[in-house]
Amino acid sequence: MEDKSVDFVNVSLRIRPTLNQDRTSSCLQVISKQPPILLVLDRSQTYHLDKIFTEEVDQQTVYNETVKPLVECVKKGYNSTVFAYGQTGTGKTYTMGTSSHLESDEDLGLVPRTLDQFFESHLGDDNSEIDILISFIEIYNEKVFDLLQESNKSPLIVKGFKVHGFKQVNVFNCHEAKHLLKIGNKNRHTTGTKQNANSSRSHAIFTIYCNIKYRDRETCSKLNLVDLAGCESVRKTGNQGSTFQEGVNINKGLLCIGQVMTALSTNASYIPYRQSIITLMLQDSLNTKNFISLIACVNSNPEDCNETVQTLEFAQRVK
Ligand code: ADP
Ligand code: MG
Repeated sequence: MEDKSVDFVNVSLRIRPTLNQDRTSSCLQVISKQPPILLVLDRSQTYHLDKIFTEEVDQQTVYNETVKPLVECVKKGYNSTVFAYGQTGTGKTYTMGTSSHLESDEDLGLVPRTLDQFFESHLGDDNSEIDILISFIEIYNEKVFDLLQESNKSPLIVKGFKVHGFKQVNVFNCHEAKHLLKIGNKNRHTTGTKQNANSSRSHAIFTIYCNIKYRDRETCSKLNLVDLAGCESVRKTGNQGSTFQEGVNINKGLLCIGQVMTALSTNASYIPYRQSIITLMLQDSLNTKNFISLIACVNSNPEDCNETVQTLEFAQRVK
């Protein structure tokens, strides 16, 4: 690989700050900063990660240490994908910035910060011509919805292992790109898919396509920023019927991402892309020639220890 400064798979852990001020106990302890090692107290179990972002770490730092180096890779022609993985309520949407709530500048998540960097660093680059396009889709119950198409609330057609008909919007400045983010975030809450559910049951994929024309060649690459559905087990929420089916499908997508990443890191000859819609859609980005960053989100509440351990096991498996 040309760019040795970034690993092909990078797994970090983000611990959400305590929201309830009364609670002081924690089931997590960072026992080493370098290399980053986390201890789960109740289990006496340790986990090795590439990075650990503890409670006080801010959005800018998380951005600098996860997506920022990948933007440079994308501009060199590599695809990159960033996943936020974890139980509902652990900060995936906050981290990604795929929420429709108004945020202060400090709270801005990875997506708006990425857009800033994309447009900032391209000014003055006069040897090349750059085209930036945006798509924003949601996968719910193994169906794909276009978050940039307000009138169309029916799922997109999947044919020949390809998803057809979602918008890829050409943007010329950061303001236009952020406007699309805002529209899409709003649609996450109002699409027809949301009758019985909220966004914690869906995967949202914000993609920035970057086409650069040089005098003698052209590169087309993209950056996928993915806010995954909550990984809580179906058993715990006790869902039945259609809600149960949703849970099964969500877990299928998450399971498949895990299987694909494990297959890649063990150099397996067969990569099971076609077993879920999300891996199918990200197929051309999830391979050893490109870059993947997984941000595993957890909270330190002892009551959520089971879910936290599951998230850590997932993180460990894909590393
Ligand atoms: P998820 O998407 O994983 O379900 P959210 O991103 O919605 O979780 O986070 C749950 C709540 O916690 C939200 O109110 C969010 O603003 C808050 N939150 C999450 N992470 C942080 C953080 N690092 N700092 C401050 N608030 C946070
Ligand atoms: Mg969320």
